[in-house]
Amino acid sequence: MPELLPYFFIGMITGIGITGVLGAIKLMRWQRTAAELESQLRSHSFELQIALEELAEKNQLLQQQTETDALSGVFNRAYFNRQMNAELKRSRREQRPLALVLLDIDYFKQVNDNHGHLAGDQVIKTVARLIQQLVKRPGDKLCRYGGEEFALILPNTDLDGAADLAEQIRQQLDSSTQPPAVTLSAGCYSAIPGTHSDCDEYINFADKALYSAKANGRNQVQSYPPGQRRISPERTGELHEY
Ligand code: GH3
Ligand code: MG
Ligand code: MG
Repeated sequence: MPELLPYFFIGMITGIGITGVLGAIKLMRWQRTAAELESQLRSHSFELQIALEELAEKNQLLQQQTETDALSGVFNRAYFNRQMNAELKRSRREQRPLALVLLDIDYFKQVNDNHGHLAGDQVIKTVARLIQQLVKRPGDKLCRYGGEEFALILPNTDLDGAADLAEQIRQQLDSSTQPPAVTLSAGCYSAIPGTHSDCDEYINFADKALYSAKANGRNQVQSYPPGQRRISPERTGELHEY
């Protein structure tokens, strides 16, 4: 039997060799599959990233559309309500004045009656553009409040600052040569919001000022309370001055 010993060893070594080769082949296959999977994963995550970016862009567009007035291109009434509430909270927290200016085109019904509705629409667009050009700070928001009415939200702005800006807008429109000639009236209100201040308070007081501008002959700016433009003795250079 000892003469069979070499065959036994040869058999054993061959077996180990074959197992080794088969193992190596298996390992190579595994590595190839893993590499393929990894490359597939990479290409899928790239596609996913592109899809997510497209989705984010569409969301942003949708957000813009829900906040924008289709005719004038400025913010709409829904945005106005949200933004006023947010600014009220912020101004109250920081104890800074928040101003609201309501601007209303004078005798606008006559523009429609005399020149047609399309010309009226064009006037709304032109007035919106003119106001927007004069409103420079990113925190200031111009919204279309109603048909031919605009609302300007001016954070960190006292009554003087708000009335100055409204007066600039009024003068610019008054001196515009673009037909049909229109003017506007504006009502301003500013205060450091108290615990009970809300959007209605601001609209109510700015509207009172606007009403008095209309009653006094239109094409003018009025503030609330009447005749009192300087609202805070501690008005500083930090405040919004136009
Ligand atoms: P006042 O000087 O007192 O503000 O007079 P007014 O004529 O401007 O005010 P009034 O509120 O009587 O008329 C506003 C008109 O605006 C009535 C409405 O038909 C018109 N209007 C509202 N929305 C639009 C719009 O989107 N396009 C056009 N062309 N007209 C509009
Ligand atoms: Mg009106
Ligand atoms: Mg009007």
